[in-house]
Amino acid sequence: MLDYIIVGSGLSGIAVAENLLSKGKKILVFDDNSQASSTVAGGIYNPVILKRFTLAWNANEQLDTALSFYSSLERKLETILINSLPIYRKFHSIEEQNDWFSAMDKPFLNRFLDEKLVPAINTYIPASYSFGHVKETGVVNTELLLRKYRKYLTEINSFQQETFDFEQLEVHEDYCCYKNWNAKRIIFCDGFGLKNNPYFNYLPLNGNKGEYLIIKAIELKLEVAVKSSVFIIPLGKDLYKVGATYNNWDKTKKPTQEGKEYLLEKLKSFLKCDFEVVDQIAGIRPATNDRKPLVGKHPKYDNLYCCNGFGSRGVLIGPTVASELVEYMENSVLLSEEIDISRYAKLYQAASL
Ligand SMILES: Cc1cc2nc3c(=O)[nH]c(=O)nc-3n(C[C@H](O)[C@H](O)[C@H](O)COP(=O)(O)OP(=O)(O)OC[C@H]3O[C@@H](n4cnc5c(N)ncnc54)[C@H](O)[C@@H]3O)c2cc1C
Repeated sequence: MLDYIIVGSGLSGIAVAENLLSKGKKILVFDDNSQASSTVAGGIYNPVILKRFTLAWNANEQLDTALSFYSSLERKLETILINSLPIYRKFHSIEEQNDWFSAMDKPFLNRFLDEKLVPAINTYIPASYSFGHVKETGVVNTELLLRKYRKYLTEINSFQQETFDFEQLEVHEDYCCYKNWNAKRIIFCDGFGLKNNPYFNYLPLNGNKGEYLIIKAIELKLEVAVKSSVFIIPLGKDLYKVGATYNNWDKTKKPTQEGKEYLLEKLKSFLKCDFEVVDQIAGIRPATNDRKPLVGKHPKYDNLYCCNGFGSRGVLIGPTVASELVEYMENSVLLSEEIDISRYAKLYQAASL
């Protein structure tokens, strides 16, 4: 008898799996690579919303938990995952500079907003109104994390590279049976795959497609991340991630010509050196209506759970929310109301009619 089956090994599944393993639980994780949000993610952790200079939801607390979580994974997987990369926000007007200074008076933001403006950071990214430096930011190499963590799970016989087929799941009162496995509980960390999940697809997960261009710019030599109309994130070897797009209509994982043209137009408006596009990638962010995660127990089946809805901030949100879910399942510690899927009980009732 397994303690838990976990469906999905993106940022959510990994955070849940790691929390359960640290409590000595016996787990089995399924993944079929049907979703790619965590693989294509920029991996940025940044507590500040750079459009409005506000603090992202609970970001100051999530940041400390996330850094300690990924640092411990670095030790466990013997791999460097975190790059503490500064972010520079390019200002486009004096008003934006003023907004930056006003934001410093808001609770918690002065921890992250540098009061000293930076007039120039790179010859090829000119700025008439300087840059603001966001402190304590960086990037987690999510593609490497997923690859290494799945390898680790395989080594401990806890990974199945296959589609979880709902037709073969039997939910009994105090355990679940799936093919040859019995498990006390199943946790769905299936990202936008939740749309095909008959148990949880009543939840309002919208999905938001994001695309990045990978460019090669030999002269640029940029060693920080810059946010202008889009982000430019250094990857090393003169390669940079540029993006991302936000699209609520297209729910396919395929990169598009429209996305490419949009990103090129934005990039050319602020990057003044030659570059070539070497790749384009896309994924669907598991985004929700109220921008809060979807976490908790199924309204009818006590042994089915979900951990989803991380939207555009999975790196920061994942470790805190996964730990809350595990405390809830293992020690009956109540979930925060704002993440608990019981807030959508009426949707379940309506869907069951
Ligand atoms: C372009 C882009 C840029 C982003 N940039 C950032 C960023 O800089 N910083 C940040 O914090 N976040 C970023 N995000 C958001 C971040 O990627 C998400 O919040 C996070 O990846 C969600 O993780 P998840 O595990 O919930 O979902 P996913 O990563 O989608 O993982 C779900 C997993 O479940 C598997 N699965 C689904 N159904 C099944 C099934 N039936 N059987 C087996 N396996 C199944 C899928 O294959 C997948 O591996 C970005 C997203 C995109 C698209």
